[in-house]
Amino acid sequence: MTTISTTENHRAGGQPLPALLETEPDRNCPLCPRLASFREATRAREPAWFNSPVPSFGDPDGRLLIVGLAPGVQGANRTGRPFTGDFAGDLLYATLIEYGFAKGVYQARPDDGLRLVDCRIGNAVRCVPPQNKPLPAEINTCRQFLIATLASMPRLGAIVALGRVAHESTLKALGLRSAAAPFAHGAIHQTGGLKLYDSYHCSRYNTNTRVLTPEMFRSVFAKVRADLS
Ligand code: SF4
Repeated sequence: MTTISTTENHRAGGQPLPALLETEPDRNCPLCPRLASFREATRAREPAWFNSPVPSFGDPDGRLLIVGLAPGVQGANRTGRPFTGDFAGDLLYATLIEYGFAKGVYQARPDDGLRLVDCRIGNAVRCVPPQNKPLPAEINTCRQFLIATLASMPRLGAIVALGRVAHESTLKALGLRSAAAPFAHGAIHQTGGLKLYDSYHCSRYNTNTRVLTPEMFRSVFAKVRADLS
């Protein structure tokens, strides 16, 4: 486990994170022109889809925050709930239910009644990017909403970062340097009272290629569950 100096961590010992930032962008957020025009094109093509920045899902008083990369075009961008409606959600929600971080039956639609328990899910980038690949400038621009989300969770004790982009954006949102805590699947980085757990993203590509197996994914959440208990 990496221990990160608390002097560079805003949550743990330095300046508090700003509490008054908006946690959710406007549905027509114009800050990333490429993503805004992609959103407009998708709205024109699929008017029944959500096609807006996807808000975080779950309990702001939860102790666990899961940070993904960005909405999938036919997943969260279509349904409006993170990880809902595409392959990644099948593994994520099954795992959350197994470890007691969600209750109900996941049916890949936002009105399925699934409830997160002590847990919230958000993305490093709120708008769907072409080919699932946000640009560095877009990740940097959207980080203000991740910072606000972190600041709005008073009991936060654990963050699971799904993939390197989410890991690095979360570190920056916490005021930490990436070199202090390099990404590795299964790594745990302790900073003050907060633990950052790394996992490969639960995408179809990663699971089909066995970069991430369901067992590897479950072991991350087993550690989180054991630590929070
Ligand atoms: S990705 Fe974030 S900052 Fe960029 S347009 Fe969407 S909501 Fe705004």
